[in-house]
Amino acid sequence: MAAPTWVAVPDDSLFGVHNLPYGVFTTGDRPGERRIGVAIGDHVLDAGAVAAGQAGDDMAALLAAPSLNALLAAGRPAWTAVRALLTAWLTDPAHRPAVEPHLLPRPEVTLHLPFEVADYVDFYASEHHATNVGRIFRPDGAALPPNWKHLPIGYHGRSGTVVVSGTPVVRPSGQRRAPGEAVPDFGPTRRLDVEAEIGFVVGGPTAQGSPVPLADAEEHVFGVCLVNDWSARDIQAWEYVPLGPFLGKSFATSVSPWVVPLDALDVARVAPPVRDAALLPYLDDQDGSAPPRGLDIALEVRLRGEVVSRPPFATMYWTYAQMLAHMTVNGASLRAGDLFASGTVSGPERAQRGALIELSWNGEEPLVLADGTRRSFLEDGDEVVITATAPGPDGTRIGFGEVTGRVAAAPTSR
Ligand code: MN
Repeated sequence: MAAPTWVAVPDDSLFGVHNLPYGVFTTGDRPGERRIGVAIGDHVLDAGAVAAGQAGDDMAALLAAPSLNALLAAGRPAWTAVRALLTAWLTDPAHRPAVEPHLLPRPEVTLHLPFEVADYVDFYASEHHATNVGRIFRPDGAALPPNWKHLPIGYHGRSGTVVVSGTPVVRPSGQRRAPGEAVPDFGPTRRLDVEAEIGFVVGGPTAQGSPVPLADAEEHVFGVCLVNDWSARDIQAWEYVPLGPFLGKSFATSVSPWVVPLDALDVARVAPPVRDAALLPYLDDQDGSAPPRGLDIALEVRLRGEVVSRPPFATMYWTYAQMLAHMTVNGASLRAGDLFASGTVSGPERAQRGALIELSWNGEEPLVLADGTRRSFLEDGDEVVITATAPGPDGTRIGFGEVTGRVAAAPTSR
């Protein structure tokens, strides 16, 4: 394990020296200057400022940048070297005089979208979520479509509307068809929902025509963030046949400001669930040749301040390596800053469902909060906060920060 840090980190901090997540921040005195920061305890290290004096030119160029994209593009060897350097700065007392002046109290910084999102893909990798949604929408048919256990189902989302945690989410308007009606009307969604997901941040670009095999996943997955895939269920239900989600999803997708390096999650690796359908060779990960790619990440979803769900990511059927192998198997290239999300994380228990449509069973069983508030879907002013932790070395916990959003009224109804 790494040596202890000389930074005063609270014992129960989720941002210990084993985590070192990356973000992008500004300060009040330099509001136009975005800088790469690394969270440590209650502080943010201005990584670019330290690198300017303590690292070689190549490394300094990756860290003295307004986003993580140059670092993402540099690939796995650079990621490993930068993490080793950060760890040395924060653990070796010899570096303390040069590093300590660049530690800023976290409450004093403003966090921004940590990378320019290139392409955005969202999957549907939870068997429990897919089964619940199938039962709700197709009560007379099979819960899972026939392809579900043969490939990780996904769709291409809208990268330009990925926003950082804290950005208000304006209730979208669109075509909605009310139950029993033959034709749609237009107006603000009546069924605004959340999807608690894990996102994977991609670097190490590939050329078109070069699929990424399972064995190479770690060369291209830089890190992990939290995602809230806001969803307008009435718009989605009317538009999605036959080409999948479109305007019911593309109005906003929120991500956490911190990207936890994949390297920080070694202790969190667990075997994925047993697969009960034979997989084609490009998706078959059961020969034991690689580290397990399941991740024991425990999510929490809070609505109006109250925990309403604790989705367990370890129950996900498809791994990040399988998602990446599938999305490139046709030769589609990867770009630095690509983001792919897991799809809603839902476990087998009711209190582990990561979307309101499942928690309220499509409105048939509204949630009742401690103050008596009833919710099937989100009302204007509601705030949703998603957090997560994972096991780290020596009994520590790795935190992911949070992804937060508050619902703002649709412009037409203001
Ligand atoms: Mn989703």
